[in-house]
Amino acid sequence: MPRTQTARLMDGTGLARRILETTTATAADIRRRTGSSPCLATVLVGEDPASVTYVRMKRARCEKAGIESRHVALPASVSTAGLVETITALSEDPTVHGILLQHPVGPHIDERAAFEAIAPAKDVDGVTMHSFAAMGFGLPGFVSCTPGGIMRLLDEYDVDLTGKHAVVVGRSAILGKPAGMLLLGRDATVTYCHSRTADLPSIVRQADVLIAAVGKPRFIAGADIKPGAVVIDAGYNEGNVGDVDFDTARDRAGLITPVPGGVGPMTIAVLLAQTVEAATRQLGVG
Ligand code: NAP
Repeated sequence: MPRTQTARLMDGTGLARRILETTTATAADIRRRTGSSPCLATVLVGEDPASVTYVRMKRARCEKAGIESRHVALPASVSTAGLVETITALSEDPTVHGILLQHPVGPHIDERAAFEAIAPAKDVDGVTMHSFAAMGFGLPGFVSCTPGGIMRLLDEYDVDLTGKHAVVVGRSAILGKPAGMLLLGRDATVTYCHSRTADLPSIVRQADVLIAAVGKPRFIAGADIKPGAVVIDAGYNEGNVGDVDFDTARDRAGLITPVPGGVGPMTIAVLLAQTVEAATRQLGVG
């Protein structure tokens, strides 16, 4: 393939660091003004090693940012009613400002019922129907963290979305679907692709902005990237590779996120930023 250009890299690590610096400063200001720290409650069901690691990482970041982290570990055998009761108590606890239920929670639990026990004002992971609807209507509320991070990256690099054709590959409730809704809210023309999409490459080739959220290593070939396109690779697969074939895609894209160092670091940064925002509102210091 002839080398047409080399894309500019979108530095998620640097942007996430700046967001965390602002978040840390705001958390300190809240503490100074109210005597209380912003507090994120993490709820973990069972001991799935990946989930344990994710929660540990999130708690460590909280601590570093001056956000109190309150951890609730429940046995894998907990019932839906028991989990809902625990989350409801956190929703009603005025010293807790944000709630994160690490998922998946196990097949015997009604995950939706558990998510819905999170008070919308504390839904800093953007998982409730209330948050989803608010996002769809363009009303204030907390967004799902990875799509929120993607939008912040696009803004950081001054990507004008108006009238652009955005193609989102993937339609999960936490990533693809909300990413498309946020892009639509910014006047992009959005096409969703998924496992049943016919002739996916022909649609990807039309993308001015491509969001890859599939979970398949190097699934999108560089040859299918429209020259000059903005390529956001949310995929994170074994071997630290994304859903886009980075080495060939960077020769055609205008802007591209690396993996790692692109979308990945943004997710926790948005989670912490939304926790501090929740505390600001609940403590009335906004
Ligand atoms: P998911 O729930 O498994 O969803 C994958 C989506 O890809 C589904 O909508 C699926 O379509 C679609 N898909 C699967 N095979 C396809 C194919 N052959 N052609 C077109 N579409 C196909 O995954 P997810 O949770 O959204 O995560 C996606 C990726 O993002 C993963 O690599 C994950 O690790 C990464 N991720 C990263 C972060 C972060 O913090 N950076 C956060 C979340 C996820 P159907 O709906 O038709 O099944």
